[in-house]
Amino acid sequence: MTSDDVLNRFLRYVQIDTQADESSATYPSTPGQLVLGRRLKDELLALGVRDASQDEHGIVLATLPATHKKKCPVIAWIAHVDTSPETSGHGVKPIVHRNYAGNDIVLPGDPSKVIRVADNPELASLVGKMLVTTDGTTLLGADDKAGIACIMSAAAQLMAHPEIPHGPVRICFTCDEEIGHGVDHVDLKTLGAHVGYTLDGGGTGEIDGETFSADLAVVTITGVNIHPAIARGRMINAVRIAAAFVERMPWQALSPETTCDRAGILHPYKIDGGVASTSIRVLLRDFDTPKLAEKAKLLQGIAELLMAEHPGAKIDVKVTPQYRNMAEGLVKEPRALDFAEVAMKRVGLSPKRTIVRGGTDGSRLTELGLPTPNLSCGEHNLHSPLEWTCVEEMEIAARVLVELAQIWGDAH
Ligand SMILES: [Zn+2]
Repeated sequence: MTSDDVLNRFLRYVQIDTQADESSATYPSTPGQLVLGRRLKDELLALGVRDASQDEHGIVLATLPATHKKKCPVIAWIAHVDTSPETSGHGVKPIVHRNYAGNDIVLPGDPSKVIRVADNPELASLVGKMLVTTDGTTLLGADDKAGIACIMSAAAQLMAHPEIPHGPVRICFTCDEEIGHGVDHVDLKTLGAHVGYTLDGGGTGEIDGETFSADLAVVTITGVNIHPAIARGRMINAVRIAAAFVERMPWQALSPETTCDRAGILHPYKIDGGVASTSIRVLLRDFDTPKLAEKAKLLQGIAELLMAEHPGAKIDVKVTPQYRNMAEGLVKEPRALDFAEVAMKRVGLSPKRTIVRGGTDGSRLTELGLPTPNLSCGEHNLHSPLEWTCVEEMEIAARVLVELAQIWGDAH
């Protein structure tokens, strides 16, 4: 495997605009995702992957057949073709920086955009490596085209070297991950894997095996509206009660802007309404799932106090589950993480198990029954014009995949 192979693939893929669009009524949300998917399917066919196909939802599936006759678990490599709606993905002009000198990088399309070493401490260890940035006017799309390039490069390697003994590998490229619909149309039966790996992680050598558990609370406050002229003793202002409700949620101890690491959060992110009725949407997040119930209880307690203080007001707290900590599902297949560690060590990395203060497609897949940790593939500064990647980090992530196929090929 060469760094040129992974670089050339990456440069090809990022120049196809696959930005997801939340306001779209179609699946996938944008046609560029279908274009890239078709290209990937064709490239897989050209590598000799005979069953490569794209379904009506744009999902690309393919199988790298086992090169031995042993019975072993099927693994899946998963990445998403779409890019974030937060920064334009149109007309991406990737710039390759060979033999990086350790300096701040001024992006020529918009010189006010500077990738500073002070803000990107990981750059210090990448002197002499090959980086790819944008020209400053778009995102790069390393999230997740770095993951796609790694998977394609590893597939090319295995197809070109049938003497490498490995088990069956399913490849799956999904759509619209960035707008929360990455696994809507992934059918686990069709995928047919025992364990999956998403290639959608930062830097190098990291294995995300834990995510938040997540619930959504919708607090609906019902007041009484009446003309202010005759409101004395009769109006009940839902806006005012909503303000008090938000004020009483612990801010220092439970906000994303004041916490880190393993601390959970209560995050009010949207308020809608008026005097008669106001709703507040609140994210409940914790690594420890039972603590979500404590957070819901806290909201319920605030509701009850405020109803006592504002007779006639009605406050309803409705909590719905969103996703669960990946670690809960990985317990039943600890090899998912263990083998990722072995694979990383074999290519000379010092693997680190990390936690994600959010969810991944893997948390949903794990919950549905497919244990799916997330692996590093050289992503940095996601969703931003300051996004960049390191070619050597992508290449080593591809080598990790090749090792994983061999390690699982030896398992039972
Ligand atoms: Zn991603």
